[in-house]
Amino acid sequence: MAPVTDLSFAIEPTTNPTPADHRADLIAKPVFGRVFTDHMAIVKYKEGKGWHDAKVTARKPLTLDPATAVLHYAQEIFEGMKAYCTENGGVASFRPEANARRFRASAERMAMAEVPEDLFIKAVDSLVAIDRDWVPSGEGQSLYIRPFMIASEVFLGVKPSSEYLFIVIASPVGAYFGSGCVSVWVSDDYSRAAPGGTGAAKCGGNYAASLVAQRESKHHGCDQVLFLDSREQRFIEEMGGMNVMFLRDDNTLVTPPLTGTILPGITRDAILQLAKERGLRVEETPIDINELFEGAANGRYREAFACGTAAVISPIGSLKRAEGEAVFGDGKTPGEVTLMLKKTLTDIQTGRSNDEHGWVHRI
Ligand code: PMP
Repeated sequence: MAPVTDLSFAIEPTTNPTPADHRADLIAKPVFGRVFTDHMAIVKYKEGKGWHDAKVTARKPLTLDPATAVLHYAQEIFEGMKAYCTENGGVASFRPEANARRFRASAERMAMAEVPEDLFIKAVDSLVAIDRDWVPSGEGQSLYIRPFMIASEVFLGVKPSSEYLFIVIASPVGAYFGSGCVSVWVSDDYSRAAPGGTGAAKCGGNYAASLVAQRESKHHGCDQVLFLDSREQRFIEEMGGMNVMFLRDDNTLVTPPLTGTILPGITRDAILQLAKERGLRVEETPIDINELFEGAANGRYREAFACGTAAVISPIGSLKRAEGEAVFGDGKTPGEVTLMLKKTLTDIQTGRSNDEHGWVHRI
């Protein structure tokens, strides 16, 4: 018999909530990922039993046996999404069903139990509902939501775990980067993902593997790292935690195609749709790093930006690599089209403009 999914969450409010004045201080100037709300949603899975014990409870440390599988073989996936205060005083998340779908795809790639999409959305909604006073309302602020799943079987054999924990936590956040442009280091030494690997899955291991390149980018005075394809080190893939797009002088927005080695970003998808609707041409095509550097120098490539849930859209001022630098515009001022796309997207997310696509999910 197929395991039964129990969709009802037991709600156990914390007996020790953060006092309102302290919470107000904490969310006034949130630093990304350091402050957390009072609760978490948690659901257990066991082979043969299915998903069970769904609850929203006080956020607290997990107790794990040292032989828990995730600690050894990194069978772990996560998502990143946001809830916003909307213009009419409500709270809404952005395309949660797309995160639920990607979470399922990541689970499949990592041989983990799949969280039904309705259970995923219910867990997120239940957490945001109980912690809605933690959703900041300032410009550029939101509640960052982190659903994740770990292999929780206590066993040192290398095999897919028979037990999992699916957990959702949340953190009030402000802008990911400051205003202005970011500078990006092009990694010629390290790749992020290879064909047949896990690049399209949102698994912790991908991020662990990217950190040495991220550290290298800091050594070169850059904010972020950009990875090239692992076969030829020639075609642009994506950044450590964001997709990347470029605007050509023929009003075409270009971005690498989804060939299995990059994360299919939900922001990427939204921007491609919005760009088409705003009259831009859109090309999902391999971008040769040498042509891009030449194109930035001769004005063929006019604007560049990174896109993802955390930073929404971050204008890129320059790309640096050992051989030199590609500067977009004056390297400091965000491009016009970049800013237009950012405003179009954030206006939809916060309810300032009509949600014609059905992307806004009220909680
Ligand atoms: N690429 C990577 C490697 C990421 O971590 C992210 C952030 N989730 C993205 C792209 C952008 O994805 P999304 O727009 O869904 O946040």
